[in-house]
Amino acid sequence: MKKVVKFGGSSLASAEQFKKVGDIIRADESRRYVVPSAPGKRYSEDTKVTDMLYHCYELAESGQAFTKLLNQIKERYNEIIHGLKLDFSLDEDFETIRKQFTGKAGSMYAASRGEYLNGKIMAKYLGYEFVDAANVIRFHKDCTLDDATTNKLLAQYLDAYEHAVIPGFYGAMENGTVVTFSRGGSDITGSLVARAINANLYENWTDVSGFLVADPRVIKNPEVIHTITYTELRELAYMGASVLHEDAIFPVRKAGIPINIRNTNAPEDDGTMIVENTCRIPTYTITGIAGKKGFVAVNIEKDMMNSEIGFGRRVLQAFEDNGISFEHMPSGIDTMTIFVHQDEFAEKEQQVIASINNLAHPDSIDLESDLSLIAVVGRGMKSTRGTAGRLFSALAHAHINVKMIDQGSSELNIIIGVKNEDFEDAITAIYDMFVISQL
Ligand code: ASP
Repeated sequence: MKKVVKFGGSSLASAEQFKKVGDIIRADESRRYVVPSAPGKRYSEDTKVTDMLYHCYELAESGQAFTKLLNQIKERYNEIIHGLKLDFSLDEDFETIRKQFTGKAGSMYAASRGEYLNGKIMAKYLGYEFVDAANVIRFHKDCTLDDATTNKLLAQYLDAYEHAVIPGFYGAMENGTVVTFSRGGSDITGSLVARAINANLYENWTDVSGFLVADPRVIKNPEVIHTITYTELRELAYMGASVLHEDAIFPVRKAGIPINIRNTNAPEDDGTMIVENTCRIPTYTITGIAGKKGFVAVNIEKDMMNSEIGFGRRVLQAFEDNGISFEHMPSGIDTMTIFVHQDEFAEKEQQVIASINNLAHPDSIDLESDLSLIAVVGRGMKSTRGTAGRLFSALAHAHINVKMIDQGSSELNIIIGVKNEDFEDAITAIYDMFVISQL
């Protein structure tokens, strides 16, 4: 049994957190490859080391004094080293970093040092081999991941070690230039390592006990999702539910390696298991609810629209020409509605309306703003009668007017549009119907 364990920034923000992580790793012999993030926030107003590094490098790049801030960063690491009573110093590394900053080594190099240094501490603390991600995660010259080479390098290097620490978030081009993933990218490193070593499981340790059925800012103490499929996760993540970097699922998904989201502060919790497929019956008919505010509905009407071939394409062309992507497009016989992000659309609304008029000559265009979209997602809906009925009766009882309904043919989700002001009440009504009433 081989497991890759990735720890997020809040799990490694202090010596206390490091100790919890050490206990977790030592509790299971199969936790052999460790991917750490940079130290995150110790308390809510704290600053993540990655943000400090970006800022520090900005100062260096613009020729301002940066040593004070770099020393504060060093202090963050020294606090961890001393708290763990390690006989270890990062002085030389910080001297190299200072020189590289002065020589303008680039903001990606700067940001990557957060994980690099934390990885060194972690390796020392655990007594594991430190494998610099610059040697095993390979990027092309255009800064995209060289997936095939990365897989080969990781497998080759890691084969030599029973245990290793591989810092997250960065890698390098063939010439050694350091490149980072987008923010939160240590999740991707963990996934790449898991695939390369053919892991049985990729554990992703964070500060929540898994994916929640609904947003805790809307529902107090929502239930945790025990098992979710990659497809369901994509649907929920797209609508704003975020725990994992969205690119982290692709390497492991194809390799059939499940991801287990776990909580460093509550290791006894099972967390959420993310799998390609499952025959496990979901606890509730729905797996999760997620939503976003801030959409505009562009309602377009034209008599005999249904018989005019190419009308829809011409309307969509108007959006494409203005660089606006659309979210949903419910249609009737002589009407169609395009849902777009309000902030994107607001800037260009007059141009878009003019383009629709020019290209499609509709009878009328009407705009409705301040709308929300809510996705009710669940593989369990496919085999269950009456889900839509229950959903809409819950909304009707909560006096919520539904503006739009969209159910994909996969029967994996039902998307509804409501007014922004009804957003929280709608989610509460749905949660009550599908979760609370089933408890
Ligand atoms: N430290 C990086 C960030 O803050 C990457 C990560 O934590 O995954 O985005």
